[in-house]
Amino acid sequence: MKICRYDDDRVGLVRDGRVFDATAALGGLEPQGWPQPPGDQFIANLDRLKSRLEEEAGRSAPKPLAEVHLRSPVANPNKVIGAPVNYRAHHEESLDDTEISFGREIKTIDEYGLFLKANSALAGPDDGVALRFVDRRNDHEVELAMVIGKTCEDVDEAGALDHVAGYAIGLDMTVRGTEDRSLRKSVDSYAVLGPWLVTPDDISDPDKLDFEITVNGEVRQKSNTDKLIFSCRKLIAYATRFFTLHPGDVIMTGTPEGVGPVEPGDTMVAAVDEVGRMIVKVRAY
Ligand code: MN
Repeated sequence: MKICRYDDDRVGLVRDGRVFDATAALGGLEPQGWPQPPGDQFIANLDRLKSRLEEEAGRSAPKPLAEVHLRSPVANPNKVIGAPVNYRAHHEESLDDTEISFGREIKTIDEYGLFLKANSALAGPDDGVALRFVDRRNDHEVELAMVIGKTCEDVDEAGALDHVAGYAIGLDMTVRGTEDRSLRKSVDSYAVLGPWLVTPDDISDPDKLDFEITVNGEVRQKSNTDKLIFSCRKLIAYATRFFTLHPGDVIMTGTPEGVGPVEPGDTMVAAVDEVGRMIVKVRAY
């Protein structure tokens, strides 16, 4: 099942390039008082709502994907987690390129662990990326993103994927510089998630997916998640040793070699096998 959020907070199922409106299924959510429980309440209830989503979608007249504004499939994550230097070849290019390293010693995820991106950085494909600091280098990083489905802590690797609600494409946009990584990757719109959420039954193995990104038609990054240093399973297990994961939490799994600059006016096209493809435009803030 491919679930998108589009236009004015509508929820749809995506089939054959068309969006079937299933928003009415969200009427099955309990009204929330204050304070709201942590996490995204739609994702938390997704398993329970799936049959209703199918029913509502079956009743609706579809729209072509090109006619809707695709937003981040997760509206209210409790956190957006990043995986620094989680591909060997990206580690090597970071060591070689002073515009990436800025004189810092570059290690790998084994030593860095994880980092957080601000939730306010989250954007959908059709929101585009609004570059700030255009005099500095702003890079694309294409990644497989996992969305957590259940509250969990102290998860072991063997059962880790049971806690995933679905998969999406993540763009972990970065302004290069000397500031802390978490700040440079937290600019508004620097966490693109889309084009939709694909439920785990439609993904053969998240640790064996081809993916790539082009900028203005030129292939910049092309790899497979089988090259991850911390696999999808290990990332979840590792994260839950530090903090509780909540429904809707996003884990961007890390980027391979080929990171490079984008400029206002560029068009990025990112694709992950079995997930889909999204077009993201770059503009100046
Ligand atoms: Mn990244």
